[in-house]
Amino acid sequence: MIDSYRHKGLRRKLVEEVRSKGIRDEKVLTALEAVPRHFFLDSSFVEIAYQDKPFPIGSGQTISQPYTVAYQTQLLNVEKGMKVLEVGTGSGYQACILEEMGARVYSIERHRSLYVKTRELMDKMNYKVKLFYGDGYKGLPAFAPFDRILVTAAAPYIPEALIDQLKTGGLLVIPVGAGDTQVMKRITKTDDEKTKEERFGYFRFVPMLGNKAE
Ligand code: SAM
Repeated sequence: MIDSYRHKGLRRKLVEEVRSKGIRDEKVLTALEAVPRHFFLDSSFVEIAYQDKPFPIGSGQTISQPYTVAYQTQLLNVEKGMKVLEVGTGSGYQACILEEMGARVYSIERHRSLYVKTRELMDKMNYKVKLFYGDGYKGLPAFAPFDRILVTAAAPYIPEALIDQLKTGGLLVIPVGAGDTQVMKRITKTDDEKTKEERFGYFRFVPMLGNKAE
């Protein structure tokens, strides 16, 4: 796996493009510049890995568009040392962005083949993301509570288990909607019983799959 000057140059341009689309959090932009996105794509996509577009990663799934990754990460407001759960590991790219920002990252994937492939990649890249094969609707109760939870697939509703697994004061960022587009929501757990909901723009994600892991 080679990260050449050319790749680094393309990454700098991508960061400027994402910044021009409204992402202002310098910690997010720095992480975007640090993680070699071409490592997460099949070699046939290496030349286009730094376009601001989603791409197929197998099993009918996609690596999200860099702007979307940056947008969700900015909303998540991650600080060094935080414990973060990601639902929808996919290629592992988003998880590595979170780790670059100093988070301790746990990530769940429902497709076994993607989980296996991404696990091998994480080992090669020396990232310490903890990967799990399972059902994101259930979260990871054994490792809860989390400071932050990020869902990277379209959820038809907000899973109660994820709220339960948030610390008080914690944030959940989740695209919600069963149709073609989803509303990006940020839920703050204000105390054990209460949450506050904020709504952001519309996005298009692959659907969060049923509660039975394959
Ligand atoms: N975050 C990923 C990345 O950086 O490459 C992209 C995520 S992709 C848009 C959505 C992922 O969510 C897919 O890999 C899909 O298999 C996974 N997924 C869908 N339903 C799930 C569920 N119930 N639990 C866990 N993962 C799920």
